[in-house]
Amino acid sequence: MQPPGTTAPAPTHLARNAMTVDVEDWFQVQAFAGTISRDDWAGLERRVEVNTDRILALFAAAGVSATFFTLGWVAERHPALVRRIVAGGHELASHGYWHRLAHEQTPADFARDVGDARKLLEDIGGVPVHGYRAPTFSINTRNPWAFDVLADAGYRYSSSVYPIRHDLYGMPDAPRFPYRPSGGALVEIPMTTVRLAGRNLPCAGGGYFRLLPYAVFRAALRHHDGGPGMFYTHPWEIDPGQPRVSNAPALARFRHYLNLTRTQTRLERLLRDFAWGRVDHVFADSIA
Ligand SMILES: [Zn+2]
Repeated sequence: MQPPGTTAPAPTHLARNAMTVDVEDWFQVQAFAGTISRDDWAGLERRVEVNTDRILALFAAAGVSATFFTLGWVAERHPALVRRIVAGGHELASHGYWHRLAHEQTPADFARDVGDARKLLEDIGGVPVHGYRAPTFSINTRNPWAFDVLADAGYRYSSSVYPIRHDLYGMPDAPRFPYRPSGGALVEIPMTTVRLAGRNLPCAGGGYFRLLPYAVFRAALRHHDGGPGMFYTHPWEIDPGQPRVSNAPALARFRHYLNLTRTQTRLERLLRDFAWGRVDHVFADSIA
């Protein structure tokens, strides 16, 4: 384990794309936020540890190191999992504490959430935490102040902007490649898109990775322009046995449960078909 205050040396051959996992449980997703109250989280069946362990095993088998944007709420209840992430050679990063949309919080509330999560993760993991991903890519034109709050909280990079048009998230006019939002200390590393007919199309994982045929996704990622890609997945995406939230809206259920039985196999192919690494290594030049 690395002592706090140091950063791991970047590997000599930089990996092509960044592999990331947003570590949260099935009941914490935005799709069910209107159905499941945060007050009820503590009483629900937790599956995040066993599912994240399965992802750790897949990565170990493929020789892949990755970045785990971990929810503070999860880290507090599963400290041994946080330590296994670090011991596996992966980057520990933050997904905030409560999985609240950044643009629905006041700057003060957002500062508390991201500050609490970072301190907790550093205390448990024993490593510095430099990276942050907003729940549901919720940094956009409504909350540009969020970048300064993150820098003040000690973060060095964010991977929270998705430069696409989507009903729930997205900032279609944002830069598609790493940039410094206010010219300051913080770097934003957007989710990967491909340009087609003047539009940005999503090519970063999540629901689209489960929706599109694998070969289509692979071709898009292979041919996207402008440097390393940024891929993300979730522990619940490889868990077809998770409890069903039958009273959630139909569209939310469709998106959440689509092709869960196929995700692990696709992920294994993706791990084989590309070179992968941690965000702080793959994007070392941008973050420095
Ligand atoms: Zn999330």
